[in-house]
Amino acid sequence: MLLRKEREQIVEYGKKLVETGLVVGTFGNISLYNPEKNLMAISPSGMDYFKVTPEDIVILTPDGEVVEGSNKPSSELDMHRIFYLKRKGINAVVHTHSRFATTLACMNLSIPPLHYLVAYAGKEVPCTPYVQFGSWELAEEVHKTMGDNYACLLGNHGLLAVGNNLQYAFDVAEQIEFVSELYCRTLSIDKPKLLSDEQITSVLEAFKTYRKK
Ligand code: 13P
Ligand code: ZN
Repeated sequence: MLLRKEREQIVEYGKKLVETGLVVGTFGNISLYNPEKNLMAISPSGMDYFKVTPEDIVILTPDGEVVEGSNKPSSELDMHRIFYLKRKGINAVVHTHSRFATTLACMNLSIPPLHYLVAYAGKEVPCTPYVQFGSWELAEEVHKTMGDNYACLLGNHGLLAVGNNLQYAFDVAEQIEFVSELYCRTLSIDKPKLLSDEQITSVLEAFKTYRKK
């Protein structure tokens, strides 16, 4: 069986996505890239996270050719594989429909540096315009909008988080959901006081030694 370790990690983190409330039902998806083998593993489309087994995970080339697996790969395959094709150092992608991030995405709002943990993803978390799910057009829009950051809101849809490994991509998704909740709550009071460019840049520097991406 190809990429056994990656398959097991996807099963484990799928359950974590449900348990932490970052996904609703079968939505959202996870993938991992193995640069040595130049192969990726992705969750199957529309499957219950608690029923998925390592055998259910689909193995493909980054060009989208299935190498092992009989299930339909996630409908967001393009949005995952574009990062493995175009961004060196990105080996994990997590897509969620977490409630507060998606609330902001439905307003087509970017998340400004209102809390230092925004730096998990970059100086801010940008938001794409609405593009239909499961399309190459969405993949290109997300890749372009995210730039060198580690997260991006998908207009009227959800969130995409990336990282060098699955633990980091998951942490980004979780922390950006946390700051999204803060942003929604602060906006209900007034405009939050934002960190300056100098302050958020300094946090980005500090994170380089706090946690490896
Ligand atoms: P899949 O079940 O096909 O992975 O799709 C879920 C989703 O979130 C689509 O945007
Ligand atoms: Zn989705």
